[in-house]
Amino acid sequence: MNYIEMVMGYIKLAFINIFGYYEAWMLWLCVLVAMLFIVLIVSIFSKSEEYRKFRSISLYNVIWKWKYKKGQIISLWCYCPECGSPLLCDDEYCRSTMMLTSKTTFLICPKCGDIEKSRIVGGDRNHILKMVRFEIQKRIKNNTYKSG
Ligand SMILES: [Zn+2]
Repeated sequence: MNYIEMVMGYIKLAFINIFGYYEAWMLWLCVLVAMLFIVLIVSIFSKSEEYRKFRSISLYNVIWKWKYKKGQIISLWCYCPECGSPLLCDDEYCRSTMMLTSKTTFLICPKCGDIEKSRIVGGDRNHILKMVRFEIQKRIKNNTYKSG
């Protein structure tokens, strides 16, 4: 008796134990269900990994880039839409005011000659990074990142 026959023997025995009898269609049904299950697992897994291709976004007139580590967004920073170099973040002004509406952060490109690329009102760099991270997570969750 070879290995396959032996396994088949056990399967038949299992069917007989559970249902009291065995017919060939039962085995095929089991094979079919198992295959569907595998396809389902693979599709869920590949879908959950698909967002990893999403690594940049254009927000507040600048480019934001990041990496993933264990599903978390890391190394999030802003880059110049013209030359692609990392921007300087000037949020000194945020500390001098208590008014949330006048808290402004400037994103400046040193390579383009210290030109202001973006001006974000509402908070300092931590606030802006939090906002951008929130937007990225929202797009991953809603599956809207593919359209850009
Ligand atoms: Zn630049």
